Amino acid sequence: MNVQIEKTLSSLRSRCIKGIYAENSEEANQGILSLIPIRSTVGLGDSTTLNQMGTIQTLKEKGIRVLDPFEAKRSRADSEEAQQERRRIVREATICDVFLAGTNAITQDGKIVNVDGAGNRVAGMFWGHPLSIIVVGRNKIVKDLDEAFHRIRKTIAPNHFRIRAVEMEGRKRKTPCVATGECNDCRALERGCNIFTIIEHKPYHSDICVIIVNQDLGLGWDPSWPADRIDQIKENYKKFVWIPPPVP
Ligand code: SF4
Repeated sequence: MNVQIEKTLSSLRSRCIKGIYAENSEEANQGILSLIPIRSTVGLGDSTTLNQMGTIQTLKEKGIRVLDPFEAKRSRADSEEAQQERRRIVREATICDVFLAGTNAITQDGKIVNVDGAGNRVAGMFWGHPLSIIVVGRNKIVKDLDEAFHRIRKTIAPNHFRIRAVEMEGRKRKTPCVATGECNDCRALERGCNIFTIIEHKPYHSDICVIIVNQDLGLGWDPSWPADRIDQIKENYKKFVWIPPPVP
């Protein structure tokens, strides 16, 4: 286990958050399965990391009831019926037995940092579930909060919106980042960076478990990294990211 991961896990434990190490996705999925109590319903926050790991399929194959608002295929995702169904599942997933999500960043001193547009993904991490499981690849570990916010605002969020809209031909948000690939802290109606959260310690009514996987997963990198590593992260992300339907 590398020093960064070891330090982050130790910091999480000092904050009464369970920290687990997984060498790869398969080990992480086994860890997730071992944490989910029998006959639990699992709600999902949108996570490319979980898609890449094949976690949802693994849970379903084990007979676990999964509330997945992002299941609809692109071909029918924009139908009124699909949108209503997605909203219903999001509400149901907000309060259930277990919440499962990724995170945008995690600091080496154990803070879990996120940005969200609607808020259901971040809220589910700390409210409405006796257990919240957060899975994160090694590439999302950052030094501290300054680095976390700088990376999320300047690199991850604008790339996320631009890649989905331009390269993946998804919803064309009317935000500057879609046009330029850069964030200007916009005030656009369709702004996606609406809610920033930091989890600093176990909340009163939920246990949190973070699984750190020794793989690059989801969208997270430092611009100083080698170009081929960043390109690989982007390519893997494009294969598994959920593409939102157009605004009706
Ligand atoms: S604040 Fe606006 S411009 Fe910046 S990344 Fe978010 S949506 Fe894009």
